[in-house]
Amino acid sequence: MPLASYIEGMKIQGRLALFSLCSCAISLSAFCQPSGRVLMIGIDGVRPDALQVAETPALDALVANGYASFDAMNDDITISGPGWSAIHCGVRSGKHNVVDNSFDGQNYFQFPGWLERLESLHPEWNTLSVCQWSPINGQIVGNSADVVVNPGSAAGAAQEVVNALENGDPHALFVHLDEPDYAGHSYGFSPSVLPYLESIEEMDAEVGLMVEALVARPMYAEENWLVIVTTDHGGIGTVHGGNSIEERRVFVIASGLGVDTELVAPDTLSVLGVAENCLGAMPRLFFQGNARAVVPESNDFVVGATQDFTVECRVKTTQAADVAMVGNKDWDSGLNPGWVFSFVYPSGPGWKVNVSDGSSRVDLEGPPIADGEWHTLSCTFDRDGVARIYTDGVLSDEQDISGLGSLDVDGRLFFGADALAGYGMEGAVAEVRYWNAVLSAAEIADWHCSELTDLHPSLAALRGYWQLNEGAGDFLEDASGLGHHAVNEGGVWGSDEGLVVWDYGNTPRLVDVPVTALAHMCVTIEEEWGLDGVPLLGTCFPPTPDSCSEDLDGDGAVTVTDLLLVLGAFGQTCTE
Ligand SMILES: [Zn+2]
Repeated sequence: MPLASYIEGMKIQGRLALFSLCSCAISLSAFCQPSGRVLMIGIDGVRPDALQVAETPALDALVANGYASFDAMNDDITISGPGWSAIHCGVRSGKHNVVDNSFDGQNYFQFPGWLERLESLHPEWNTLSVCQWSPINGQIVGNSADVVVNPGSAAGAAQEVVNALENGDPHALFVHLDEPDYAGHSYGFSPSVLPYLESIEEMDAEVGLMVEALVARPMYAEENWLVIVTTDHGGIGTVHGGNSIEERRVFVIASGLGVDTELVAPDTLSVLGVAENCLGAMPRLFFQGNARAVVPESNDFVVGATQDFTVECRVKTTQAADVAMVGNKDWDSGLNPGWVFSFVYPSGPGWKVNVSDGSSRVDLEGPPIADGEWHTLSCTFDRDGVARIYTDGVLSDEQDISGLGSLDVDGRLFFGADALAGYGMEGAVAEVRYWNAVLSAAEIADWHCSELTDLHPSLAALRGYWQLNEGAGDFLEDASGLGHHAVNEGGVWGSDEGLVVWDYGNTPRLVDVPVTALAHMCVTIEEEWGLDGVPLLGTCFPPTPDSCSEDLDGDGAVTVTDLLLVLGAFGQTCTE
C-alpha cells in the first residue's frame, strides 16, 4: 500500500487527523529522540523577590536558558500541604482536598501526583522522589515512585539526586529542599533578611550540584531533560498561609536544551491615580496578613433564624482572593454557620456573599471589584425571602434564603479577616453599616456613596456604623450611638495613594507545574483527569505529513516500517 493512502486510512482514528493541522516545521529527527525526562526541584518557601536579590548563579543559568516567571502564583492556599499537592497533582484544593499540613480529606486517589501517573503509564521508567520534608512522600507520593527517600538535610537530598543521575537511569526525579522555609519562619520571609537570603543561596549551590551531575550524563543531549524549579508559597513577616501577594507570589523555572528563553512578567500593568473615593479623601484602615477589626459581642448582631438584616461596607483591594472582608463566621468552610463578604473561589474575579446555617449554604455572586478602586458592597437578608447583593448601589444577585435557619456564631463582627483571624484580605475597609432591617433598593442606591445622616429613612434600624476613618490608634468608633466600638487588631492606617496594578492573569500557576512535566514526557493530558493546570511549554506536536515520507530506517525505501517509526514517535516533544 502506498504510504500516503495508508495515512489517509489512519486519519479516521482521530489523533492522526491532527497531521493536517500541524504547522510546526519540525524535523523527524526531533521526533525520534527519546521522550523527555524531568528533574523537578521544589524549594520550600522562596519569595521570588528574595530569589532575585540573592546570589544564585545556578538558578540564574537555568533562567538564562529556559522559561521562567518570578510572577507565578499560588492562587490557592499558601500552606505547604496544599502547595505541594498542587505541584504534584495539578489541581487546586477544591479537588485534592488538602487545606493544611494535616493532609486530612486528601483525594489523591482521584487526582494522583505526576509521578504516579507516569508510573501507571510507563512502569518501566525509573522515578525517584527525595524529600527533605517527609510528608510530601508520606502523603502525596506514597510508594508510587520507584525510589522514595526522606533525607534529613537539603545537602543529603541533593546528594541522593546526584547519585541517581551519576549512577542510574532516572526518567523523572522530584527533590524537595526545605531550608528557606525554616529560615523564613525563624528570621522573616523578606529580600532584606540576610539569613533568609543565605538559605536561598545555599539551595542554589545544591541546585548547581544536581544540574552539574545532570549535564555530565553521557547521553545528556539525547535524553531531552527539562529541569523545573519552583516553590510552594512565599511568606510575610515570619508566617505564610494568608492571601497577601508576598505569600501568593512564587516562581517557576522550566529549563532545557529545547526550551526557548522566555521571562513571563505580569501580562499588563495599569497605573491608577489616587483611587476615586466618593466620600472624599480621608485616612483609611488597610488590612494585610490576618490583620482585622473586631466588633465586640452584642445581641444587636444576633439574628437567630428570623431576624432580617442588612450589611453594607466600602472596600478597596486588588486581591480577588479567598478572603473574609466583612462577616461573622469562620470562613474555613462555606458550610460553617454565619455570613461573609468574600470573592468567588479561588481567585474571583467577582465578589460574593456566602451565608449558611451550618447545614445548608447560599452563595450570591457579584461582579469583579478588585481593581484598586473603592466599591460599596451591600447585602440584604430577608429571612423568609431572598438575600440581595448590590455593587455600588446596583443589584447584582438575589437568592432564596428562606430555607436557612440560625446564622449566629457568637454575636461578634469582623472586618479584614474571619472569626478565627484567618482568610485575611489585603486592602482597605470603610463605612461598615449594620441594620436589623432589609433596606430597599432605593435606600441602598441613594446612600451608597454618602456618609449616613439623620435623613436616612431606615435610621431607626441602624445597629452599628463604623467609618474606620480615625487615622490612628486601635479604637474604632461606632457612630450609631449604640456603643459597639470596634478594636483594630493589626490594621495599618494610611491614605489613598496612586497604585500600580499588576495583572497576573497570564503568569504560571502552581497547578501548571506537573502538567508541564507530564507534557514534556509526552503524556497525553486526558480531559477526564480534570486537571486545573496547563502545560506551560505547550503540548507534544504530532508529526507533519512531510515527516511521514522519509526513509527513517535507512533501508532505501519509504515503507510502513518508516511510518511505524513516525507513529511510535507520535506525541514526542518538539525540541527544535
Ligand atoms: Zn512550604
